[in-house]
Amino acid sequence: MRRTVIAGNWKMNMTPSQTKAFITELAPMVAGKDKCDIVLCVPFVDIATAVEAAKGSNIHIGAENVHFAESGAYTGEISAKMLCEIGAEYVIVGHSERRTYFGETDETVNLRTKAALAAGLKVILCLGEVKEQRLAGITDEIVSMQTKLDLAGVSAEELKNVIIAYEPVWAIGTGLTATPEQADETCGVIRKTIAALYGEAAAEQITIQYGGSMNDGNAKELLAKTHVDGGLIGGASLKTDKFTAIVNAAN
Ligand code: PEP
Repeated sequence: MRRTVIAGNWKMNMTPSQTKAFITELAPMVAGKDKCDIVLCVPFVDIATAVEAAKGSNIHIGAENVHFAESGAYTGEISAKMLCEIGAEYVIVGHSERRTYFGETDETVNLRTKAALAAGLKVILCLGEVKEQRLAGITDEIVSMQTKLDLAGVSAEELKNVIIAYEPVWAIGTGLTATPEQADETCGVIRKTIAALYGEAAAEQITIQYGGSMNDGNAKELLAKTHVDGGLIGGASLKTDKFTAIVNAAN
């Protein structure tokens, strides 16, 4: 049985003091909800506070990006080793906002993924088509290609620490959501690609999330789909009640 994972992506929101208040409020609200793993991916400067505030709870903490080098002259970047030492367990790689605004490519996403896995982090690998690609009918080709490029050189053993987040770019932060059928179909295409690369057993095991305006109103229907094993949640992860409602939908 694959795990359902409900992960928040705070993006560039929340200060350390807000982080402490948020997690202190959230922890009792999601206590005992053990049918899914609960993760909050937070800005770098919030990680230490988040780890401390989440101690003793079922909330896991992650970062929102990682650099691919172990160390060196990369001003402003953060290495996987730094994230591990500060207590992060997860890291988002390849989010569409990184690809769109910060020039990340499948090549750098692949390098970041491999560096994070080598350091022992769990990777939430984001991929998905833009609106023009969906309208052109090439969504399947795009997500399949991204899956292959982003995971190039990742071993079957390392894949056990990878979660894929299917995030149609047109649905992120827009209030537009893929229909449950679209989400299921495209997550299914990604699973088929994993089967071709790593075999059926690995494809059955891997958690594939949907992300893109998932909220307390649509989570239940999306999560009910066979190939949708959780959610990566932006906006709705910034409110304890909304995030808890999504966790409840997964339970
Ligand atoms: C995201 O940031 O990954 C995301 C899915 O955002 P939102 O839920 O706000 O669309």
